[in-house]
Amino acid sequence: MKIQFCGAVRSVTGSMHVLHVGDQQVLLECGLYQGKRSLARKRNKELPFDATKINHTVLSHAHIDHSGNLPNLIKSGYKGRITATDATVDLAKVLLRDSAYIQKKDAEYLNRKLRKKDKRAEPIEPLYSQADADEATTRFDTIPYRERREIVPGIHMTCYDAGHILGSAVTVYELREGDKTVTLGFTGDLGRPNHPILRDPQRLPRIDYLITESTYGNRLHEAAESMKNRLLEVVTQTFEAEGRLVIPAFSVGRTQNLIYHLAELFHEGVLPKVPIFVDSPLAINATKAYRDHPECYDQETKDLMENSGSVFGFDLVTYTRTADESKAINEFKGPCIVISASGMCEGGRILHHLKHSVPRAEDTILIVGYQAEHTLGRRLINRVPKIRIYGQDYKLAAQVKKMNGFSAHADRDEMATYIKHIPGLKQVFVVHGEEDASISFQAYLQNLGIKAHVPHPLEFVEL
Ligand SMILES: [Zn+2]
Repeated sequence: MKIQFCGAVRSVTGSMHVLHVGDQQVLLECGLYQGKRSLARKRNKELPFDATKINHTVLSHAHIDHSGNLPNLIKSGYKGRITATDATVDLAKVLLRDSAYIQKKDAEYLNRKLRKKDKRAEPIEPLYSQADADEATTRFDTIPYRERREIVPGIHMTCYDAGHILGSAVTVYELREGDKTVTLGFTGDLGRPNHPILRDPQRLPRIDYLITESTYGNRLHEAAESMKNRLLEVVTQTFEAEGRLVIPAFSVGRTQNLIYHLAELFHEGVLPKVPIFVDSPLAINATKAYRDHPECYDQETKDLMENSGSVFGFDLVTYTRTADESKAINEFKGPCIVISASGMCEGGRILHHLKHSVPRAEDTILIVGYQAEHTLGRRLINRVPKIRIYGQDYKLAAQVKKMNGFSAHADRDEMATYIKHIPGLKQVFVVHGEEDASISFQAYLQNLGIKAHVPHPLEFVEL
């Protein structure tokens, strides 16, 4: 039996690994590769394995870098089912539809560029359509946490809480070939302990091997517990200045965590009574999935629900879906909070809100997620004096605050602690991190006496 590491190896997107056991092949994740447009198209279209030979697929959680190429897997001839937790299935439906929409817009953009160069150029097809995304969602089989199930002859699986986003699971496989049995864990993306809403990552049973992510393999975060108070501090300071607080945030996970903390502060009576606008149709759909799956909540969230009746729809929150509603937010006079996407300020409705707030000294822009190089979010953190939005320059007068404790990924020490507690581990395979982060995390594990290996793309490892 063996594993082939096909995607998110020495990089962070396009997560994909294939288990080979006897004559069976199981695909773990089918993530979208995100990067330069031309390279991404090719990488996503041309799967590094034969889709018709895969017998089953398992999805650890709904994020697009783990699920976003499922429609293309099916277009490439995959006939099998896809197993995931109930909540992951609901969230994946929302995210795959959104991804199909982005694919369509992307193709339109490329076609406009092509036609400028050559009027007779063959138009580019989107990577997949809405119908392809919908087809993928008909293939899901749901599995509850902690239920052991045979997914193909010779392979049993069980899901454990990963604490990363709603529905996320660390999956454990028992692989049987002849007399030989091997156990293998896969973190998917690992969350943080004491993170809001979700249960903490669950301790794993004895396993032989672990495939672990390493997004923050060389970094440490602020403590998750201190986020609520830091948030209150920023809100209070902004309102004392009579300003508006604008928070660019990813629509899935980050936005719900922010709303959760604001709900806690509201119910404790310490949050000033100001309107909170959640301006993102995707966030609205994702929040519905969060509401629909209380079975994923931790005890604190259950208690808050019981005592206050609502977490995601408390009195101050207004969700805006249409473009007109979105524009109306900017006509609102007085202090308020606006949460909108995209998280790195690279597109989406947040740009309209930033356009208004960047030049206003009384406003605060709160950055709660990682901002990649060359993004508008990074320029805000670096306090570039002039911020260009929609081709126009705005003088940066607003306060810019940064909080990194909202991360949905465990940091180096949290991952290492999690791994240290797994009994019987023979070896760890480090994937899903920039190469530096993966190599640095491998060295960190080796120092703790844990054997670790960073595979190369498409490498096979015999188990
Ligand atoms: Zn993720």
